[in-house]
Amino acid sequence: MAGSRKLAAVRLPPLPTVGELIKLYNLRAEKQLSQNFLLDLKLTDKIVRQAGNLKGAHVCEVGPGPGGLTRSILSAGAADLLVVEKDTRFIPGLKLLSEAAPGRVRIVHGDILNYRMDRGFPANISKKWEEDPPNLHIIGNLPFNVATPLIIKWLKNIADRTGPFTFGRTQLTLTFQKEVAERLTASTGAKQRSRLSIMAQYLCTVHNCFTIPGRAFIPKPKVDVGVVHFTPLVQPQIQQPFQLVEKVVRNVFQFRRKHCYKGVEKLFPEACRDELTQEMLQKADVDPILRPTELTIPHVRALADAYAHLCTREPGLLSYEFREELRLKHLLRKGETPVDAFMDT
Ligand code: SAM
Repeated sequence: MAGSRKLAAVRLPPLPTVGELIKLYNLRAEKQLSQNFLLDLKLTDKIVRQAGNLKGAHVCEVGPGPGGLTRSILSAGAADLLVVEKDTRFIPGLKLLSEAAPGRVRIVHGDILNYRMDRGFPANISKKWEEDPPNLHIIGNLPFNVATPLIIKWLKNIADRTGPFTFGRTQLTLTFQKEVAERLTASTGAKQRSRLSIMAQYLCTVHNCFTIPGRAFIPKPKVDVGVVHFTPLVQPQIQQPFQLVEKVVRNVFQFRRKHCYKGVEKLFPEACRDELTQEMLQKADVDPILRPTELTIPHVRALADAYAHLCTREPGLLSYEFREELRLKHLLRKGETPVDAFMDT
C-alpha cells in the first residue's frame, strides 16, 4: 500500500503524448543535430532502469528533445532533473513537462560540450571518491555526432575528477551507435577491441546493457543503438596521466592488424626508435608480436609505466608526435618550410 502511494507521487498528470507534442510544436527532426526520437515510453523506461534506483536522485539528461526519456526519468522518481538541450524548438515542450512536475525540472538551453556540470548541482550531494557513487546520474539518448567526443571528454574528467565527477563517481547511462557501444565494452581479443575499449575500461566498469533496433527511432537511423552504463572505478587500472595513457594507446592502435611493436615504435623519434622500443617492451614485459587487440589492461598499464619512465629520463620525449614529424617531412618535400606550415594551420 505504502509502495503504491509512493509510486503515485511520481506519476505525471495527464499530458499530450510525445508524438502529439512533436505535432503541436512542429518539431521536425533536424539531421544536422542528429535528432532521432524515442516515442515508446516502455523503451525509455527500460533505458532509465539501467541507471538503477532514481527515487530522490539528481539527474542530468543530455539532449532531452521532445522529452520521452525525460518523462521516464521523472516517473522513476528523480527529485531534481536538469535537462541540457541545444535546440530552442524543444524548450516550450520541456516547460510543459516542468509544469507537470513542479520544482523537479530545471531547463538549460545550451551545448552539453561547454556546460559546466560542476556548477549544476549542490555541493552537498558530493561523495568521497572511495565511497559509493553520489545520488547523481547522467542519462542521455545522445546525438551520434556528440556521443564520442563527449564520452572522451567525460573519461578525461573521470581521470581528473573534474566536471560531473567533482561530485564523486557519478554514473552514466548513455546511448551510442551500436558499433561504438561494442567498442566501448569489447574485451581483450574481441574484433571490436580498440582505443575506446582501453580508455573506457581502465577508468570505469563498463556494461553494454542492450541494443535498440534502429526502427524504434523516429526518423529511423541507419544503424542500431546500444545502451551503455559506466561506473567510474575507485582505483583507475592505470596510474598515469590521462594524456600519457591516451598517447600510448593511440600509437599502439594505429596499426591494429600489425604486431604491437609497430605502434610502440612510433612513440620515438627515428634516431633512437629501435633502441627505445626494445627497452620499453622489455621493461613492460610485453611480447612485441601481440596484436593491439590482444593487449589486456595490465599490458597497457605496463606499457604506460615503461613509457612514463623513459619520458622522465629523456626530456622532450613526451612532446614527440610521429604524425607531426611526418607532416613536416611531407611539407619539406613539397618545398614548403615548416614555418609556412604552421602559418597554414
Ligand atoms: N532524448 C530525445 C529522445 O530520446 O527522443 C532526443 C534524442 S536526439 C538523438 C538528440 C537530442 O540532443 C536532440 O534533442 C538534439 O537537439 C540534442 N542535442 C544535439 N546536440 C546537442 C548538444 N551539443 N548539447 C545538448 N543537446 C544537444
